[in-house]
Amino acid sequence: MKDCIFCKIVNNEIPAEKVYEDDDILAFEDINPKAPVHILLIPKQHFASLNEIPKDQKEILSHLMLTARKIASEKKIGKKGYRIVLNTGKDSGQEVFHIHLHLFGGRRMTWPPG
Ligand code: 5GP
Ligand code: ZN
Repeated sequence: MKDCIFCKIVNNEIPAEKVYEDDDILAFEDINPKAPVHILLIPKQHFASLNEIPKDQKEILSHLMLTARKIASEKKIGKKGYRIVLNTGKDSGQEVFHIHLHLFGGRRMTWPPG
């Protein structure tokens, strides 16, 4: 989608530190990390948020989640623990309206989130 920063990363129009890629999804380092491990996972196809994922494409959600699990294991945080965050809409703090999972780890997370 034009003017979407994550679509530009998918299309290699702006650079990113990629950690995983296949035909359907991409994972890359967050530009402003909030934890020692902070990776974003996105579908290559543009969906603004969870609210826009069609029911007939729900497999993309499990693919994102299980890839986050795989990356957590590769980054050696799989056993110590990690947090996956999916902000949806303004009240959640979503700033980039191309759906993305945050994978956080490498430090003790606090609860409840802010
Ligand atoms: P949100 O608040 O929408 O859930 O999170 C957006 C995330 O995208 C933020 O953690 C922010 O640091 C990250 N981000 C924004 N622009 C860029 C960019 O151009 N490149 C990368 N790698 N991350 C970005
Ligand atoms: Zn997009």
